[in-house]
Amino acid sequence: MNILVINAGSSSLKYQLFQMEDETVLAKGRVERIGMETAILVHEPKDKGEVHEVSEILEHTTAIRKVLALLVHPEHGVLESTAEINAVGHRVVHGGESFKSSVLVNHEVKQEIKRLFDLAPLHNPAHMLGILAVEANMPDVPQAVVFDTAFHQSMPAHAYLYPVPMVLYRKHKVRRYGFHGTSHNYVSERAAAFLGRPLGQLKLITCHIGNGASCAAILGGKAVDTSMGMTPLEGLMMGTRSGDLDPAIVPYAMGKEDLTLGEISSMLNKHSGLQAISGISSDMREITEAMEAGDKNANLAFEMYEYRLRKYIGAYAAAMNGVDAIVFTAGVGENSELLRKRVCEQLTYLGVEFDEAANRSGRGQERRITTANSKVQVLVIPTNEEWVIARDTYRLVQSAQN
Ligand code: ADP
Repeated sequence: MNILVINAGSSSLKYQLFQMEDETVLAKGRVERIGMETAILVHEPKDKGEVHEVSEILEHTTAIRKVLALLVHPEHGVLESTAEINAVGHRVVHGGESFKSSVLVNHEVKQEIKRLFDLAPLHNPAHMLGILAVEANMPDVPQAVVFDTAFHQSMPAHAYLYPVPMVLYRKHKVRRYGFHGTSHNYVSERAAAFLGRPLGQLKLITCHIGNGASCAAILGGKAVDTSMGMTPLEGLMMGTRSGDLDPAIVPYAMGKEDLTLGEISSMLNKHSGLQAISGISSDMREITEAMEAGDKNANLAFEMYEYRLRKYIGAYAAAMNGVDAIVFTAGVGENSELLRKRVCEQLTYLGVEFDEAANRSGRGQERRITTANSKVQVLVIPTNEEWVIARDTYRLVQSAQN
């Protein structure tokens, strides 16, 4: 079975075509600048040369049509016909309280995703465009949606509610939802397999540290807490997002700097985090290089970033009354030896015995960076959100057929 995975943004669209039985990626690519005359399409078929096209792509339906044409192209394609695409899986950021797992798309599901536009105004409308674009091009192909929030729906009320008047929750659904759920779910399953222990018996802290970053406390395979909140702004310090701060800073800064709601939101989401403190970049590679060159602001940004992550690990060990393993994943988590080293060296109180040599080797592979005797294991597990979307879609389509 071949499954096409789509991650649609407002002006972009990423895709991967999976052959499920062999677990191989037949092709992947992206369309950028949708809505412009000079949209860019990059197509990377397996074992064939990359294709770059610049053309007018004014809407998502055209973008999908061009992607499908390349997938069956005599020279650059990987399929004989689009009939070989058995199903399409979409990433959807917000599933609110309605979606506790992935589902097949039908009329009601589309209506519910639309009702959730309010909670994710930048993301969900774009995902809907992706779903409709596939429908327009391949009306008979089943589609599934996989939500970033779904895995965290297992959180208990004492973790997902904010201590504010309940009217905000009852009327406006103000609560913690959490994001990166697909990744936290995947790496927790992989961690259990790596450790050779049943997931149901493990206390895990998973740290998805990319441009956006979040931690999750996972007890017996179920998320019991996570650092992102009603929106992806809460929690850890990130590339350009502030993460946790005193909520009173918002009205105070708005008054002092004469900022509108849009401006303060943009400040906290796009101009804070590593970028704001270093004054250099939101990219951890550039921060690390600047630190090596002796830049004090880069050093301070890194210290804040690491400190805030380490505090969350401590909090989640407390939340679960212990921890068996801590998992690092995503761009920074998988690649920054320095961040992992600085965090792990301060976790001796938990029983972490850091293995410096293991931390430096095995890039790109699932591995342990603690000694064999370490009471708490620390693992590095590359995430693969697209694969989880393909797998969930495959399972849903299989069970609908049986
Ligand atoms: P996104 O949240 O956009 O999916 P990723 O998970 O791809 O992000 O992570 C992107 C980040 O990973 C980059 O901003 C960069 O800071 C970091 N990163 C990538 N490679 C390295 C590296 N070798 N060392 C440190 N950080 C890295």
